[in-house]
Amino acid sequence: MKPIVAVVGRPNVGKSTLVNRLAQTSEAIVHETRGVTRDRSYHDADWAGREFTIVDTGGIESLKSEDVFSGSIRDQALAAAEEAAVILMVVDGRTGVTEEDETVARLLRRVDKPVFLLVNKLDNPDREGERLWEYSSLGIGDPLPISALHGHGTGDLLDEVVALL
Ligand code: GDP
Ligand code: MG
Repeated sequence: MKPIVAVVGRPNVGKSTLVNRLAQTSEAIVHETRGVTRDRSYHDADWAGREFTIVDTGGIESLKSEDVFSGSIRDQALAAAEEAAVILMVVDGRTGVTEEDETVARLLRRVDKPVFLLVNKLDNPDREGERLWEYSSLGIGDPLPISALHGHGTGDLLDEVVALL
């Protein structure tokens, strides 16, 4: 079985966009609306000759809402984290840290696996970085700036990820 890399985070931060960029097939569906991708989807990926499976999760969403699905979504993401060799937590570099991010981070701090904190939507590499320090407060490592949309930072990320697989 190929090692699993799980992509987790609250809705709308760009998880599916990232998976589409990193995977060989673009089966993960990207939606404009929050929380559409509820379940995990698995995709073949490889980098530098190393094959792995990348998992898109529906987001650890609405933990405090009345959403009847929220428990199972939380379980989905935790299960993805459990089965993964490496976890990619994605946050939105344009919004700052949200309560939902903190909830996700709290869950992931209990998982004894390497976790990368990816600060997404930083489309302009020259202007990024100013707010990166804010995300250190999540307590899951150094924030890495990326743009899933444009691919900035994703090659360096994959170098680091496959080195751990
Ligand atoms: P998910 O809910 O976490 O899977 O998020 P999606 O991948 O569906 O993305 C949510 C929205 O953010 C979509 O409109 C994406 O086009 C947008 N988005 C994702 N990544 C980036 C990025 O790097 N830059 C910008 N500007 N928008 C992005
Ligand atoms: Mg999605």
